[in-house]
Amino acid sequence: MEKMCTVALPLTMNSSEKQETVCIFGTGDFGRSLGLKMLQCGYSVVYGSRKPEMSSLLPSGTEVLSHSEAAQKSDIIIVAIHREHYAFLTELKEVLKGKILVDVSNNHKINQYPESNAEYLAQLVPDAHVVKAFNTISAWALQSGALDASRQVFVCGNDSKAKQRVMDIVRTLGLTPLDQGSLTAASEIENYPLQLFPTWRFPFYLSAALCLFFFFYCVVREVIYPYVYEKKDNTFFMAISIPNRVFPVTALILLALVYLPGVIAAVLQLYRGTKYRRFPDWLDHWMLCRKQLGLVALGFAFLHAIYTLVIPIRYYVRWRLRNITIKQVITKKEDPFSTSSAWLSDLYVSLGILGFFLFVLLGITSLPSVSNAMNWREFRFVQSKLGYLTLILCTAHTLAYGGKRFLSPWILRWCLPSTYILALIIPCTVLVIKFILIMPCINKTLMRIRQGWERNSEHSKSALNGKSDI
Ligand code: NAP
Repeated sequence: MEKMCTVALPLTMNSSEKQETVCIFGTGDFGRSLGLKMLQCGYSVVYGSRKPEMSSLLPSGTEVLSHSEAAQKSDIIIVAIHREHYAFLTELKEVLKGKILVDVSNNHKINQYPESNAEYLAQLVPDAHVVKAFNTISAWALQSGALDASRQVFVCGNDSKAKQRVMDIVRTLGLTPLDQGSLTAASEIENYPLQLFPTWRFPFYLSAALCLFFFFYCVVREVIYPYVYEKKDNTFFMAISIPNRVFPVTALILLALVYLPGVIAAVLQLYRGTKYRRFPDWLDHWMLCRKQLGLVALGFAFLHAIYTLVIPIRYYVRWRLRNITIKQVITKKEDPFSTSSAWLSDLYVSLGILGFFLFVLLGITSLPSVSNAMNWREFRFVQSKLGYLTLILCTAHTLAYGGKRFLSPWILRWCLPSTYILALIIPCTVLVIKFILIMPCINKTLMRIRQGWERNSEHSKSALNGKSDI
């Protein structure tokens, strides 16, 4: 069985067990951190450096030699040097012949060079077996053994034995190797550490755009309109009232947008009568960032919950309540109790709480540690069935909020309806289409398509049969 390093102290090797020697070219940050980790995991480490005599910072127990001498000590050489300095390796072609060269390098920009660093290294030393690995692990994570840092090491190379040897080392260091195939995958692997939240970009920009749009929309309706017609200064609404309209509206729209691509895909499959035609790129991208859209939506729902909790302590709210009470005392006129209003208000709050609870549950189940413990059917149940239930509850919460106000003449200001009406458009559309899609006659066809049935091939078959019958 393979050994796996879990302790931070040097392992005492069994005297009968021979230590495997690994050579590291470069005594910089990464070379030092990787060397220390390897030493702790029972490897013998020898460094190849330009100045072997000036290497006082290296972990004790390691040897430092010239590049050529060090390379002769091991058949695995980790090149912990920036690509710009690879040229000297051509002089070592002979000594590197047949050896495994591990390229750990990263670039400063995505697709900085026409070929990947690993392919460039393979061109410089054609007789060596170049393997790309370790570039997604930082020197800091190797040194501190950070549990919260990524442990995935993407490995690729043209020689399967060489790749396997490197993957064994990765496992021994307590990291997780992920075989990415041949060396052509290196450019993609080299781009990984340079990408900045690629799947979060669309949800982030979309939510920012929605927030800005609804914020200015609310300012026009609730600040500018009252000022123009009643000379009222409602600018303080911009601190709590308006954000507490913008956040739930954004959360609901984003949640609906998590489910919209699914229904669009189903409609496309029904229209095309096959599942074997690619979806448009925009739909593919949209589907890939549904989890992120949902998590951003959950963040806005949290903000809405917090903003709602502070309503009773607001000066404006306390002032209004006091004034209404005083007015009733002066006029000796009590506000009659309305059961329908009580129902609507309790329903609104209850639907909101339940919707928020399910929303949080969805967020928790999207965590890798939780979703890994679920099988495919369980995950689908939570994300699809519970997800739709969350969307229904949150939409119903908004409908109950609108309640009697949907019929009020004040609903339009400068022809602009309330934000909650706009917020309902996409969720209601998604729910109506979903409802149509789950009707037995349509759902049956959709299921057949998803199991591989194709309308055109069936038609052509029956057409052919028809012809042959004639
Ligand atoms: P570094 O601290 O600058 O060290 C690079 C080492 O390369 C130097 O210490 C030097 O070692 C050697 N070197 C410099 N110029 C050279 C030249 N002209 N010819 C031959 N050797 C030369 O860089 P690093 O952070 O350790 O990064 C090393 C490699 O690891 C890079 O390709 C980087 O992309 C990759 N990497 C780094 C990290 C990280 O967290 N730092 C993470 C993943 C991947 P000698 O003085 O001993 O010759």
